[in-house]
Amino acid sequence: MFNIILFGPPGAGKGTQSGNISREFGFVHLSTGQILRNLIRRGTASGELISKFVDRGYLVPDDIVLRELFREALKHKKSPGLIFDGFPRTVHQAVMLENLLEKRDMPVSMVISLDVEQDELYRRIMGRSVDSGRSDDHEEVIRQRFMTYEEETLPLKEFYRNQGRLVEISGMAPVKEVYHNIREQILQRLNGEGREEEQ
Ligand code: ADP
Repeated sequence: MFNIILFGPPGAGKGTQSGNISREFGFVHLSTGQILRNLIRRGTASGELISKFVDRGYLVPDDIVLRELFREALKHKKSPGLIFDGFPRTVHQAVMLENLLEKRDMPVSMVISLDVEQDELYRRIMGRSVDSGRSDDHEEVIRQRFMTYEEETLPLKEFYRNQGRLVEISGMAPVKEVYHNIREQILQRLNGEGREEEQ
């Protein structure tokens, strides 16, 4: 099983590139943002609680996110791979993910960081906010989402870099070009895994 963590700020293109990876490699796209939005849409008590965080641009508490993410992930144990889009978002989440996956013999195979300059991020998010239909796509909340990213999520980059696992890819180029680079990196590792198994 080949599991990918796709890491990056709001607007970096994680969702788009996850879709591309999923289509080509058959990996299952798990977006915590999407999972949480689906729960909000259902209008359950837990959805109502989740919306209080999402609509303000804050992180949803770890226990809720982990429970919901794992509920989804475990449905796909037989899949060739999983793409974690938007998870982990804190070092604590990263450690918990690793523990849970290891127990089930589903290790993280690679961590891709999609890097995009701040101005471009704002431009993209503000642009898509017009018709995204997302309750958190308002200027004030967008600003808070970036702050949350800087404070809580960015330290993760160092965490993965120190482990020597971070694959940094520029997300500034056109979607196709970014995907080409991601694809190359995945193929390299997939081939490497194949060779290791042969030995
Ligand atoms: P973006 O990365 O563009 O902000 P997402 O769809 O990934 O959008 O996330 C939307 C919101 O969902 C976040 O602002 C946060 O409130 C919540 N969320 C998503 N992933 C997590 C997570 N791993 N931990 C806590 N909250 C999360």
